[in-house]
Amino acid sequence: MTKHIENEECYGGLTVNKGIEQPPAVNPYLKKSRRAKRKNYSADEYVEGILKGDITILSQAVTLLESVLPEHHEIAQSVIAKCLPYAGKSVRVGITGVPGAGKSTSIEAFGLHLLKESHKLAVLAIDPSSERSKGSILGDKTRMEKLSNHPNAFVRPSPSAGSLGGVARKTRETIILCEAAGFDTIFVETVGVGQSETAVHSMVDFFLLIQVPNTGDELQGIKRGIMEMADGIIINKADGSNMEKAALAQAQFKNALHLFPMADSGWTPQVLTYSGFYEKGIKEVMEMIDAYVAFTKKNGFFETKRRKQSKYWMYESINEKLKDSFYQNPDIKSLLKTKELQVLNDQSSSFVAAKELLDLYFISLKK
Ligand code: GDP
Repeated sequence: MTKHIENEECYGGLTVNKGIEQPPAVNPYLKKSRRAKRKNYSADEYVEGILKGDITILSQAVTLLESVLPEHHEIAQSVIAKCLPYAGKSVRVGITGVPGAGKSTSIEAFGLHLLKESHKLAVLAIDPSSERSKGSILGDKTRMEKLSNHPNAFVRPSPSAGSLGGVARKTRETIILCEAAGFDTIFVETVGVGQSETAVHSMVDFFLLIQVPNTGDELQGIKRGIMEMADGIIINKADGSNMEKAALAQAQFKNALHLFPMADSGWTPQVLTYSGFYEKGIKEVMEMIDAYVAFTKKNGFFETKRRKQSKYWMYESINEKLKDSFYQNPDIKSLLKTKELQVLNDQSSSFVAAKELLDLYFISLKK
């Protein structure tokens, strides 16, 4: 036993009892399980776990594919390739709306509805501005709490900041892993403020635009392109004193949609009102998606669109890889700023500078 000065006689009454010297670990297995969690799985072990529907392993595989380390990249790509034959069987839904439109409230309501009907739901996000450490709007852990804690749901925030192309590719790859893990419905959420809608649109079957009733012209500020992409426009917050405004907005959107040419799918986009907060009209929104899937599967558009998307992503991946390879090339890195300055100072034209850099790049590949 350690010698405790407090036990000496002059400190009468103060004793250190035996037994408090080495308090036992609260959970003696904790260390062990932590170590086990950090285990580096092989690609086959990841795939096995994913196919079994193990959410912890799925989550670790997604972390791996989001990693910037080349060795992680290699395993991740092998996991994706092995999962691919098991993927593709879900319904993929893109959900957009400006911040405050009620995306997370609605996704939670839609999700809980689906889970009650024995579906398995994955909620992913694309937010190129996000950086997890800074608490992105789409990465906030407190959002969609009920879904996050549900055993049949997998909620994953946006891959952290990077180019939109990079973030979108990772989300698309995550869809494959989620599908292989047995998730039959995938929601991909994005903030309705920029280019990310196009990226989401290119990876989903159905694109849902969330709007809110407002006074004045409903259509103001909504980019025509986003409306054109929508297979359904849903007006949230149709509750309490908003009911009338919501009905007005519904009529305005319906009118505006009439002005658009018929979509390639042959589907007429619907406009519905609902309340995510009070969970009213949720079933109807989900039924609209089911109706779209049935309609487009029947006329062949569902499959055609998926094929087109695969082609699009092949080219996107090539473009991204080429760009990466160019900008990460050490020769280019050392000369890029100099060339940029020459262009800015009119010492070189943009085209000449670009050609010189590209020539240098191609020469460096042959070295
Ligand atoms: P997000 O930024 O698009 O994810 O929006 P949130 O889901 O965080 O919702 C923004 C605000 O709108 C919150 O204060 C919600 O409580 C509120 N809200 C969301 N859905 C509804 C609804 O159906 N009715 C009403 N009245 N408020 C809602």
